Amino acid sequence: MTPASPDINITPETPVRAPSSVPVDDAVLPYEVASLDLRGRLTRLGPALDDILTKHDYPPAVGKLLGEAIVLTTLLGSSLKFDGRFILQTQTDGPVSFLIVDFQAPDRLRAYARYDARRLAAGQDSAALLGRGHLAMTVDQGPDMSRYQGLVALEGGNLEDAAHEYFLRSEQIPTKVRLAVGEEWRGGGDGPKHRWRAGGMLLQFLPKAPERARQPDFHPGDAPEGVVVDEVAEDDAWVEGQSLISTVEDIELLDPDLSGERLLYRLFHERGVRVFAPLPLRAQCSCSREAVSGMLNSFEPADRAGMVKDGKVEVTCEFCSSVYQFTPLEAGVEE
Ligand SMILES: [Zn+2]
Repeated sequence: MTPASPDINITPETPVRAPSSVPVDDAVLPYEVASLDLRGRLTRLGPALDDILTKHDYPPAVGKLLGEAIVLTTLLGSSLKFDGRFILQTQTDGPVSFLIVDFQAPDRLRAYARYDARRLAAGQDSAALLGRGHLAMTVDQGPDMSRYQGLVALEGGNLEDAAHEYFLRSEQIPTKVRLAVGEEWRGGGDGPKHRWRAGGMLLQFLPKAPERARQPDFHPGDAPEGVVVDEVAEDDAWVEGQSLISTVEDIELLDPDLSGERLLYRLFHERGVRVFAPLPLRAQCSCSREAVSGMLNSFEPADRAGMVKDGKVEVTCEFCSSVYQFTPLEAGVEE
C-alpha cells in the first residue's frame, strides 16, 4: 500500500504531483471530474480477490461471476461512512442460485457462491450463470439502526445491467458501472502461477441542478398509442461521461502494471480529474469459534443432537471454509 494521500489534483494545468505509476492493488480510488459534474470510484483487486476465490476453488466461470459481484460491492459499499455493513446477494434460477458478498466498513470483504455443478456448461457467461431472480443490497448500520434494502430484478442480464437498473429506478442517479475479472498466469520457478485479478469503475452524474440529471425513463414503446412521449435529452456532460467510460477496456481495468491514477488520467485528462486518497480493502472473514458456538446454542437441543457425527460437531464457515470442531458437551448436547 502506498500511504494515503490527500486530494491529488492531476489536471494537466496544475499538477500537484505526477499520477502515480505505482499500481495499488486491493483499494478503491475515489475520483471527480468537476468540470462535467462527474464523480466515481475505481477498484483494483489482486491478492484479496485471489484469497477469497482460491479458498473456494470454484470452477473458473463461477469464480469470475463471484469476482464481479465482489467488485460491484466494493464500488457501492465503500461509500459507507460509518462502521456499517453492505451486503450484496443474488437469488436466481440459474446454475449459480445464490451468491453473497459481505463488506464490513472500512475494509473487510468476504463472499461465497452456491452453484449446481451439473448445470454448468462451456460458454456460459455471467448472465447465463445467474438466470432470473433478484439482486438485493442491504445496508446494515448496527442493531439500533434500521436496515435499508434495495431490490432489483435480474432478468437475464449481468450484474452491470442490474446496477444500471437499480440506479435508474431506485436512486434516479445517472450511473455507469464497468466490471472486469480475469485470471492471470505468471511464470515462476515452479511453473506458471495462477492468480485472480479484478477491476471496476463506477461513474455518476451529480449536477447541482437536479433537472439536468433527468433520464429517458421509460421506453416509448410502453406508452399507449396516440400519447405524445416526452423526449428527455440527456445532458451533454453526461453524454460525454458515458462515452468516455465506454472506452475502458477490460484489459485496462485488469492490467497489474497500469496504476488506477494513470487509467483515470488516460480517460479524463482533457477535462481534469481529481483523485482522492485510496481506501484499502482486505479479505477477512468475521467468523470465530465464539460466534459459531453462539449460533449452535441458538438451535433446538434436538437439532444440535442431530449434528453429532463421529463423536463431534463440526461446522464449516461457508465464507472462508474454516472448520470449527466441538465436543458434544461444548455443543450443548446431553450425553
Ligand atoms: Zn469464516
